[in-house]
Amino acid sequence: MSSYDVVIVGGAVTGSSAAYHLAANPDFAGKVLVLEKDPSYRTCASALSAASIRQQFSTAVNIKISLYGIDFIRHIGDWLDVDGDCPDIGFHEDGYLFLATAAGRDTLADNHALQAALGADIAFLEPHALAATFPWLAVDDLAAGCFGRSGEGWFDGYGLMQAFRRKARSLGVDYRPARAAAIVVDDGRATGVRLDDGEVIGAGTVINAAGADGRRLAATAGLDIPIEVKKRMIFTFKAEDRIERCPLLIDPNGTYVRGDGDGFICGSVPPAGQDPEAPGDFDVDWSLFEEHIWPTIAARVPAFERIRPGAAWAGHYDMCAWDDNVLLGALPEIPNLLLANGFSGHGLQQAPAVGRGLSELVAYGGYRSLDLTELSPIRIRDGRMLREKNIV
Ligand SMILES: Cc1cc2nc3c(=O)[nH]c(=O)nc-3n(C[C@H](O)[C@H](O)[C@H](O)COP(=O)(O)OP(=O)(O)OC[C@H]3O[C@@H](n4cnc5c(N)ncnc54)[C@H](O)[C@@H]3O)c2cc1C
Repeated sequence: MSSYDVVIVGGAVTGSSAAYHLAANPDFAGKVLVLEKDPSYRTCASALSAASIRQQFSTAVNIKISLYGIDFIRHIGDWLDVDGDCPDIGFHEDGYLFLATAAGRDTLADNHALQAALGADIAFLEPHALAATFPWLAVDDLAAGCFGRSGEGWFDGYGLMQAFRRKARSLGVDYRPARAAAIVVDDGRATGVRLDDGEVIGAGTVINAAGADGRRLAATAGLDIPIEVKKRMIFTFKAEDRIERCPLLIDPNGTYVRGDGDGFICGSVPPAGQDPEAPGDFDVDWSLFEEHIWPTIAARVPAFERIRPGAAWAGHYDMCAWDDNVLLGALPEIPNLLLANGFSGHGLQQAPAVGRGLSELVAYGGYRSLDLTELSPIRIRDGRMLREKNIV
């Protein structure tokens, strides 16, 4: 039986970041294997993402995670170059713009105060300042907006995932194209991973970075984690009229739009009652665009009344039904099975900090840099919620 110190299930951005951070840690000398059932990465969230990063969260830990994320992205070449070949993930630092009506103004102000206290460069804008800064924006119903002056934007998410993977491999991490059927548990410890063909690979630690398959995989070890798989769609379009300086704009109803090359991409949480679990469903529902997204963005940005719709695709969020924050770390029943599940729509930007944190849990048994303890799944047992209000 082959055996590794760490077996990571899922080789997309979370698994590959963890693999890289382990291999790069001078205090960790173990062997690492990444199991990836689909090396084409065609349908994983990391490949289908809007790949944007923001500091505008409502919980301190998520803000700190993204402050580290932006630093990592800005200096990606220092970390992930392979033989002098620096990855280029095309970071566009054009900001997020969260908008609020009177009903949401206090929440926006509270979030802004927390973000500013933690060092995020976010401006709180009254309606007249919004109109002056973004003259193409309809502001009549707005009570305020928050704009990320720096440290927010979008990048090539697939490129980030591949850069982690390439660097991890260059540092000696093994990648194997295989599906983990089950985690093998013996006497309260994960001892290995069983593949589809029955082979068992021994493991000192197992990391569950299986995205939409994370709940099923955890269940094979006897853990019931509240991860739901929700379909999220991205629609592209071109606008006939130019608009200058378009950040990632989030309407008060949750619909978002941002620039993408010479066009735009947009999306939205489906209206209440129309958001069932949808694992494996990649069908694009154009009615969401026609009946909800386009009317919203055309009302917010009149220039978007004249557009030419383009391609669209669907991917999946793995969402933590408990409080919309990731479950990171072990449960006491199986201390050497580390979970990294439930990222909702912010797992790409969290991958640098999460991968580093996972590597510290393995190497030291606790966090050494950024303390991510609050994200432990134990919070569910304790009845403690860490509700993230800014889910996009
Ligand atoms: C439409 C959309 C827009 C998004 N926008 C953003 C954004 O703007 N910013 C942001 O930060 N995040 C965004 N996200 C979220 C982000 O993409 C995800 O949170 C992140 O990519 C999750 O990465 P992951 O590696 O944990 O999971 P995934 O990318 O889903 O990867 C899981 C991997 O595990 C493999 N796997 C699964 N089961 C097994 C098994 N049993 N054996 C072996 N391999 C297995 C899969 O093949 C896959 O490669 C978005 C997501 C979607 C769908």
